[in-house]
Amino acid sequence: MNKNNDIEQFKDNAIKLIDYIADYYKNIEEYPVKSQIKPGDIYSNFENNPPMDSRNFDEILNDFDNKIMAGITHWQSPNFYAYFNANSSFPSLLGEILTAALGVNVFSWETSPAGTELEQRVMEWLRDAIGLPNYFSGVIQDTASTATLVSLLTAREKYSNFEINKSGFSKDYKFRIYCSSEAHSSIEKDVRIAGFGSDNLIKIELNEDYSINYHSLEKKIIDDLNNGYTPLAVISAIGTTGTTAIDNINEIGKICKKHNVWHHVDAAHLGSALLLEENRHWIDGIENCDTFVFNPHKWMFTNFDYSAYFVKDKESLTKTFDILPEYLKINVDNVNNYKDWGIQLGRRFRSLKMWFVLNSFGINGIKEKIKYHISLAEKFENLLKSDSYEYLIPPKQIFQIMAPRVANLVTFRWVADENLTEANINELNIKLVDKINSTGKIFLTKTKINNKIIIRMNIGQTYTEERHIIDAFNLIYKIIMEW
Ligand SMILES: *Cc1c(COP(=O)(O)O)cnc(C)c1O
Repeated sequence: MNKNNDIEQFKDNAIKLIDYIADYYKNIEEYPVKSQIKPGDIYSNFENNPPMDSRNFDEILNDFDNKIMAGITHWQSPNFYAYFNANSSFPSLLGEILTAALGVNVFSWETSPAGTELEQRVMEWLRDAIGLPNYFSGVIQDTASTATLVSLLTAREKYSNFEINKSGFSKDYKFRIYCSSEAHSSIEKDVRIAGFGSDNLIKIELNEDYSINYHSLEKKIIDDLNNGYTPLAVISAIGTTGTTAIDNINEIGKICKKHNVWHHVDAAHLGSALLLEENRHWIDGIENCDTFVFNPHKWMFTNFDYSAYFVKDKESLTKTFDILPEYLKINVDNVNNYKDWGIQLGRRFRSLKMWFVLNSFGINGIKEKIKYHISLAEKFENLLKSDSYEYLIPPKQIFQIMAPRVANLVTFRWVADENLTEANINELNIKLVDKINSTGKIFLTKTKINNKIIIRMNIGQTYTEERHIIDAFNLIYKIIMEW
């Protein structure tokens, strides 16, 4: 092994890899968006034994292309409309390369002062840019799932006077957690992991727009108080996963304050749209929230993973998580040691890619792109709704919009015939989604709410343009016409 030779080889290989990546992005629309392979296909492309001897880079890259690429679902394709977007960008990718190159671990200030201080600065920028008050402190978590777990653990410790950390759970604690019946599945997982038990996660009924009915919430809290439970935390959503419904943070916050209940806000997907001033009313009453999370790795052109978690009471957070063995002690005051702000010890230098993104796009550039995505969603919704389609000759009204469109998600279903039963309509829409995705031309997903199958068309890929959503509409329409 000779370092100088390795560096020369690295330069050559890096150029090949960047060329490969550039070609990939150039041709990305030619791949089937959703991988069309069968289970086990990729696994069986590889031998039972690991490679024992060194292979050259060209072979490795070739193997990647031949044996792995077919099993990729192309999340960065402009024709990806499934789940929520997880959009990346070239500045983010370049920042990520630098993070990998430095290979630093950002768990305490001294493990890389810049890693800590850039994170602090960038999280303040994000906080201010989405309109959170400046008494919130920010820290990067890997995912919203983890951030919500951190929030619940902090609530648990604060309300038990840090007793559970010390002595473990006892039967004296009868905590209850509340969320919308449309809340993300990660919340139930977090409730289990934090030791509350799924039975103590109370799912509150919904209004017509699929947001939490806060009158029902308060009634539940009062009932529980009367029955000897301790209402511990409410998790409200700005943008539920099914339909992007927005819970009334202001009213829920007042209820939490009145009954001394912790309030966590999950804005994983829609948080990025708070960059636009016209959406700031979503966080009216944010002063009565304890913690807030959103995912720049969904809709802020920053590749996975980057979840932005904000807390009002930083002391309770660090008191919940700090553990200080001798080998981690440092003699520096007034610095952040992010190992005390969450679950893991080891942490990647993630603020760097965000810094690249913010500098390259500017906040204004990001706002423009988010606005454009929302305008495309509006356009797509209008195509579904219109009685006289611009692009094709219509039959009768065949699409129903299923939930009010808040931002970039359109929810709809196909009703082929007014005489169909609900069960028939569900079956038809499940088949329709499969058929659409098996073309490989676009990828979208479905969900079920109030026993109705709903198709979700989420428009937020970095390079999605109007022509893409028109093609998507025409594709769906054509499949239906030929049914
Ligand atoms: C996507 C999403 C999550 C989960 O996000 P991860 O970062 O993958 O854990 C949680 N809540 C909501 C509302 C989401 O949309």
